[in-house]
Amino acid sequence: MTTPLTVGSATAQPGTLQYGRWEALAHPTGHTEFLPVIIAQGREPGPCIWLTAGIHGNEHSGPVILYQLLTQALVDQLRGTIVAIPALNPAGLRTTKREPYHAPTDPNRLWPDGKPPKPLDPEKEPPSSLETAYARLFAEMQKSADYLIDYHNTWPHSIPFAFRDRVLYHADENEAQNKAEAEALAAKLDEMLKVFGHTIINEYPSEKYIDLDLHRSTSGAALLVGRIPAFTVELGSGLMPNLNITQAALSGTRNVLRWVGMLEGEMEAIAGIKVVETGFPVRRSGTLRASQACVSIPRVKSGDLVQTGDRLADLVDIWGRPLETIEAPSTALVLSPSYGVYFYPSDTVVYLAVRDEEALTGPYPADYFKADD
Ligand SMILES: [Zn+2]
Repeated sequence: MTTPLTVGSATAQPGTLQYGRWEALAHPTGHTEFLPVIIAQGREPGPCIWLTAGIHGNEHSGPVILYQLLTQALVDQLRGTIVAIPALNPAGLRTTKREPYHAPTDPNRLWPDGKPPKPLDPEKEPPSSLETAYARLFAEMQKSADYLIDYHNTWPHSIPFAFRDRVLYHADENEAQNKAEAEALAAKLDEMLKVFGHTIINEYPSEKYIDLDLHRSTSGAALLVGRIPAFTVELGSGLMPNLNITQAALSGTRNVLRWVGMLEGEMEAIAGIKVVETGFPVRRSGTLRASQACVSIPRVKSGDLVQTGDRLADLVDIWGRPLETIEAPSTALVLSPSYGVYFYPSDTVVYLAVRDEEALTGPYPADYFKADD
């Protein structure tokens, strides 16, 4: 028996693709914002994976991947259910902006944080209608999702990669059990990332991660609050999908479906993109920034492994006279030189991932679950 499943107006029908709308919020102009939902269900039972994209309105590869993945030919071989939402932020996609104009904040930092609910303070700005909508959608996701992948783009010319979030656990009276469960979840996530087959970049250490609200990203909340294996894919290439990158991500996604038992067949080789085996774990890093207005001449390529002191970029003035050299602060993986060459002070010049020294599981900070003042 397949599992009955309804998301918005889409109801799973075994052996078919179903299309529907999930009503998200009302605009003051009388219009409503819906999120498009596609449910692909095989004729045989199996797990449920949610595939989401389009939360950053200037990142357009994810939707393109979902449209190519979700075909009748796939459904004919599928066990279980795929719930796909290709436009988590329709307003941003319309305006090609990261943030929706009706809630001008990063929408990928608005998902539930797992803290106990607190009474609304009338003196504080309440959650936006988008944040409220995501909380409702998250509750639906929790009911059915066994796995989740959320698709994004980074910068043009970046290597594509997958972000791995650390699994945090509650250091309460059940700490030992919570830790063991977190380790099991992290191990499962590790397997899922490995079959996806892209370069793996760990997220910031937990304190910085929480400080930047990255635990409230789509995959962060799914992993930490939903306790389901989930990751974010970064597909490089900015606005314009790169064919090699989207094909590799499709292969990686189908490999995940094989790994969870939703598809038969051999794992596909991840071809046509650079996959870097660093030999040691690397994590997202504070970026290398220009100290003054400058023109940057990159000296490295995306995917290069560099050592401490290696020259990454020469910064010059508008006449081409040397200002400074940007050097690698440590052994690092170059995700990409920044897009463009003209930079203001504090602009990022090179995006790096550095050696990761922190464990992949850890306790939430001591005051995390305490009520805010
Ligand atoms: Zn993004």
